[in-house]
Parts: sequence; C-alpha cells; structure tokens
Amino acid sequence: MKLIIMGAPGSGKGTQATLICKKHKLAHISTGDLLRKNIADGTELGKQAKAFMDAGKLVPDDLVIALLKARIEQPDCKDGFLLDGFPRTEAQADALGKIVSVDKALNLETDLDKLADRMASRRACPKCGYTTSVQAAPDGKCKECGETLTIRDDDKREVVENRLKVYNANTAPLVEYYKAAGVLVSIDGMQAIDAVNADIEAALK
Ligand code: AMP
Repeated sequence: MKLIIMGAPGSGKGTQATLICKKHKLAHISTGDLLRKNIADGTELGKQAKAFMDAGKLVPDDLVIALLKARIEQPDCKDGFLLDGFPRTEAQADALGKIVSVDKALNLETDLDKLADRMASRRACPKCGYTTSVQAAPDGKCKECGETLTIRDDDKREVVENRLKVYNANTAPLVEYYKAAGVLVSIDGMQAIDAVNADIEAALK
C-alpha cells in the first residue's frame, strides 16, 4: 500500500498515521519529523529548513522532494508506506507521481476555526517524537519514553495562523488534485481519534 494522509495542520494526521502504520506495518514517512531530525542533528538541510519552519512557511520544494526521494528508497519502504505531511504543493504531488503511484489519499476534513486551539494544546516529545495534548498528558511527561514534553516552536499562536494560511493557499488544492486522480477518500477529522481511525480502516478495506 502506498498511502498519503492529508489535512490541515492540527487535523490529527500524525496521530492517525501512527495508528495506520502500526496496524498495516507500513513505513511512516513524516517530512516534518525528518526535517526536525535534520535540525536536531545540525545538518546543512536542517540549517536551511529551520527559518522556514519557525516562520510557519513551507520548506522549498527542491529540498523536501530530495529528502522524500531518499527516504522512499530505504528498504523499509519496499512493502508500502504512508506519507504524512507530503505532498504539500502541486509541484511536490507531481514529483511524487513520477516516482510512485498512490493507492489512496486520505483527507482529514476539519473545521479550520477550531484548529488553532488544537495546535495550542499540542505537546511533543523532543526525544521520540510522540505527540499528545496538554489535556491527555497533565504530568507533562512522554508516555513512550518519559522525557519532558515541549511545545513545538511552530505551534506557538503567532505561527499557527500563518501555517493555516499556507495550508489554504498551497495544500488545500491537492484535495481536488487527488479527487481528479480517483484516489481521494474524505474522512471527518473532527470526530474522536478512535472514530476517525474506524472510518479510515473502513476505507482501506
Ligand atoms: P508538520 O510536522 O507536517 O506539521 O511540518 C512542520 C513544518 O515542516 C511545516 O510547517 C513546514 O515548514 C515543514 N514541512 C513539512 N513537510 C513539508 C513539505 N512537504 N513541504 C514543505 N515544507 C514542509
């Protein structure tokens, strides 16, 4: 299976991607996680990407496409993968289409007005990448590894608004792109995590 999960920032695509990949044994490819890893490791790519990410802007297509291509060539992607946060522009979707054919593009539909609050309450583990909310982890510790949870730099209120604008301008049109390709599946992303997941599983059958 070669899947894409799409949705606005804060729509829960990372959470659903983790559940899908565990169940179907797919490689979980999050370009956001790959970029954050490059920043943490102090690579040249990380240095170039950081300013864009901190401002809530998209990292330039050529950098992200090269990163994605290299990741898809890894052996763990041979039996299938799920792309989380890629493609985000039409140029990225075109580049992807030249490398693989996508079986399904899962689109989490959300109420954009409510997403800023969701992102403000998001907490992430700087060590293992586990993502949760301040409500679900009142002790501020990662459930997976015990590390102290932090707020992602780009989840700060002033950046969130820009990320939503960027999503509307660049990424939302990809819903039509994959609809035209006949692979789009739309899911109500405002439901509880389990209900969203059940709808996704039904669509993958
Ligand atoms: P995410 O973790 O998917 O929300 O991504 C966090 C940030 O990483 C985004 O706001 C962008 O700055 C950058 N990023 C992640 N994936 C992409 C992509 N496919 N194209 C451009 N920028 C990206």
